Amino acid sequence: MTESEPDTDRSPLAADSDAVESAQQALIEWYEADHRAYPWRKTDDPYAILISEVMSQQTQLDRVVEAWDDFLDEWPTAASLASAARGEVVAFWSGHSLGYNNRAKYLHEAATQVVTDYDGAFPETPEALQELMGVGPYTANAVASFAFNNGNAVVDTNVKRVLYRAFDVPDDDTAFETAAGDLMPEGRSRVWNNAIMELGGVACGKTPECDTAGCPWRQWCHAYETGDFTAPDVPTQPSFEGSRRQFRGRVIRTLGEYDELPLSELGPRIRVDYGGETGEPWLRELVSDLVDDGLLAVDEETDSDELTVRLRE
Ligand code: SF4
Repeated sequence: MTESEPDTDRSPLAADSDAVESAQQALIEWYEADHRAYPWRKTDDPYAILISEVMSQQTQLDRVVEAWDDFLDEWPTAASLASAARGEVVAFWSGHSLGYNNRAKYLHEAATQVVTDYDGAFPETPEALQELMGVGPYTANAVASFAFNNGNAVVDTNVKRVLYRAFDVPDDDTAFETAAGDLMPEGRSRVWNNAIMELGGVACGKTPECDTAGCPWRQWCHAYETGDFTAPDVPTQPSFEGSRRQFRGRVIRTLGEYDELPLSELGPRIRVDYGGETGEPWLRELVSDLVDDGLLAVDEETDSDELTVRLRE
């Protein structure tokens, strides 16, 4: 390997298992506290989940909700879909503007396979699910995760963007696979894959909403620290207030390394030109925003005016 080639066998996360555990817990708690309530997230029926996955490939999620409900009203089980006339399923698909009609044919065929080859019970591993007509690796893994909690870490465009920004994972498919696998808590593919995709969809979109979405990874995030929010699918810096975010990120990262710091020691650690206009008044304002956002706590020193700041527990 030359110096310029990325080391794709080792994820940047592998070095610090405590940080990985904290990041896992923070993301799951963030997801469980609040997430978009799509109805397929409330079921573990592999058939219903497969339908939602196939519909979502071409159509915005908000529009999929109605089509998914109607589809399941019409054909509530794999057996009922298998016994329907294929033309009816295709007509439903085009009537709901769900994109390529071949997908309807494949779903009908997959339902027939489940009935005839698997005795009506869906296979439970990503490998076996890929035997179904029209089910590729991504969809097979999603069904294995969400129906059976038995999948691998999902790597899609959203997940790549998150991993690239948060953990500085090189833009390389093998590196993304390795990092995503290292990060997923063992045996928790259902909640984990939902959570990391939610993070990419809600907080870490092309223009990230780190603070407004309360991203649980700000403390570890490389992009939040450096202010560089480009990503494989975001080649130029998204237009928002980058530099202030950058300093917020540096405060969070610096305080992650120290239990607490007085402002006079924190300032020079986050900017080389600390002082004057960019001195204590500037830092107090930045810290005050972070306190308002629930990220920092401050203590007033009793024998001086100095503030001491720390990460909020
Ligand atoms: S802090 Fe911002 S850039 Fe980093 S993972 Fe969160 S939303 Fe993405």
